Amino acid sequence: MKNFEGFGLSLALTKSLARMNYTTPTPIQEKAIPLALQGHDILGSAQTGTGKTAAFAIPLVEALLRSQRGTALVLTPTRELAKQVLDVIHQLLGEQSPIKTAFIIGGESMGKQLTQLRAKPRIIVGTPGRINDHLARGSMALHDTGFLVLDETDRMLDMGFGVQLDKILKFLPKQRQTLMFSATLPKSIIKLSARYLNNPERVSVGETNVIALNIKQDVIRIEQDQKYKELILQLYDRKGSVIVFIKTKHGADRMAKNLRRDGFTSEALHGDLRQNRRDKVMQNFRNKNFRVLIATDIAARGLDVPHIEHVINYDLPQVPEDYIHRMGRTARAGADGSALCFVSSEDGRKWKAIQDLINPGQKPDKQDREEKGNKRKFRPGGNNPGNKPRNRSGKKRYSNSSKPRMAA
Ligand code: AMP
Repeated sequence: MKNFEGFGLSLALTKSLARMNYTTPTPIQEKAIPLALQGHDILGSAQTGTGKTAAFAIPLVEALLRSQRGTALVLTPTRELAKQVLDVIHQLLGEQSPIKTAFIIGGESMGKQLTQLRAKPRIIVGTPGRINDHLARGSMALHDTGFLVLDETDRMLDMGFGVQLDKILKFLPKQRQTLMFSATLPKSIIKLSARYLNNPERVSVGETNVIALNIKQDVIRIEQDQKYKELILQLYDRKGSVIVFIKTKHGADRMAKNLRRDGFTSEALHGDLRQNRRDKVMQNFRNKNFRVLIATDIAARGLDVPHIEHVINYDLPQVPEDYIHRMGRTARAGADGSALCFVSSEDGRKWKAIQDLINPGQKPDKQDREEKGNKRKFRPGGNNPGNKPRNRSGKKRYSNSSKPRMAA
């Protein structure tokens, strides 16, 4: 495999990569960076945790370093993801960089953002809603923005940002380079790419509907009123940081409180929290100040906390794709991880939709039969060998593990 030196990057960027301990490009970086450096538009699909952020951030920073003028815009679906992207960009720029950045997300004071925008930033990272607010009031100009990144584009569309994106794109020059990344490539994304991208290169790494092979998956059939008790047992059984996904914001708050009462360090993360609270929770989780993060699906995409070892689906997600994104919170960049899923008798349709997504070849009747009659054959991921059923307290349990491997 190549190292970063083969890309002919500026000295400043090469030094930053060394500081960040990035020596070997990940597969998506190896494919996307040379194409982006040549000026191509890119339609990229990659599993989460594959190094996608640097795959676009490295060519972005290089483009700005090579030219004295021109700006770049990165759009992400969530505030947390925007923060993560900005952090990577800051690391790539290094502390002494003259290139200024602006962080434009909802839920933060306008004043601070106006100051950043008046300072003529060359990189703007943000979420679509607030960026449109600034465009509408004339406090942001994008006529010089020659580099655009749309990150987690499928998620932006899922969250209803399609109209916002169209509005923003009207402010950008037609002559520009656009990199569009999406975890999945449904028809809506292909259509959007035809509108926004110019003769793009397709870059994809692995099958996007596949769960990383280094995640050990377990499923427990359990009724709603038994879940909390089982969760406690599972938390005692496991070591390391855990993210628990739950359906409602209120439920997340309540569960974090209950877990604290029961002796676990725990915080909730959901969309009703004020931005500074959300930042604080994430920062404390990153710093391992508490162990169990209870999250709604707002945290399912893109969040990169390398030490998350376990994902627990306390409730199944509303959208089947989110199952894969939740799994992507663990086993980041080739580390091992485990995922546990609680499935109740009311989850039949949702669970089937998830199975159909991750294991599309399998007929429903066969799936059911295997699940009922032959635990060994039942595989949540369908494609991972080495199932090892376990059992405790009479509950049905299906396990699925495989040897550690870098997420492809
Ligand atoms: P991402 O998919 O962009 O969220 O990245 C997942 C994780 O991989 C992050 O913790 C990155 O810091 C890490 N990472 C990305 N690229 C590299 C690389 N070339 N070498 C080592 N770590 C990397």
